[in-house]
Amino acid sequence: MSQEPDVNSHSPVSSRLPQHQTSHRPSREEAEAAVRTLIQWAGDDPDREGLVGTPDRVVRSYEEFFAGYDLDPVEMLQRTFEETDGYDEMVILRDIRLESHCEHHMVPIIGKAHVAYLPDRRVVGISKLARVVEVFSKRLQIQEKLTAQIANTINEVLQPKGVAVIIEAAHQCMTTRGIHKPGVTMVTSRMLGVFRDHPPTRKEFMSLVQGQHGSGLSNA
Ligand SMILES: [Zn+2]
Repeated sequence: MSQEPDVNSHSPVSSRLPQHQTSHRPSREEAEAAVRTLIQWAGDDPDREGLVGTPDRVVRSYEEFFAGYDLDPVEMLQRTFEETDGYDEMVILRDIRLESHCEHHMVPIIGKAHVAYLPDRRVVGISKLARVVEVFSKRLQIQEKLTAQIANTINEVLQPKGVAVIIEAAHQCMTTRGIHKPGVTMVTSRMLGVFRDHPPTRKEFMSLVQGQHGSGLSNA
């Protein structure tokens, strides 16, 4: 949980948007044709009644699933507030619903994220924290990278005293195929600044995340 490299040497904020996203983007027709191919590959007839509109629906679903490529999380966090009457305790957003897709199998990752930061004068609207989780989730991901991207971005833009992110999620590539282990969730975390260097702060965060509903996370 505390083995990550120093955040201060992390890549700059500008690297948050994939560089390749505008080059060679196929047309909608090409995307629909690819879905037809997959239907045929699965062994069905894409021209039968029930499937004839499926390529269109799948492509539109993809627009939702992967909407995060067109959004800039850095911009989302730019508007901050300094009139906080000296508020200097941690801010936690708990149980943020998380829906992503595994980049190895392109199947859902479903879970929740807990995001906290310790402000250094500036605070941000809480809905913006949830939006940052959403933007990075709506890309092809692995959970480790998703966790780090959320924490690093908040850290670099808000420059707080610390950031903590925990994600607990089930991966359908594990629950519905492969080794078929339903009920297994993966837990990842990234602790930066005081959450990393000051164990009592991390402990306070962990106990607040567990709250009364006991998420089963350890205090390690
Ligand atoms: Zn997978």
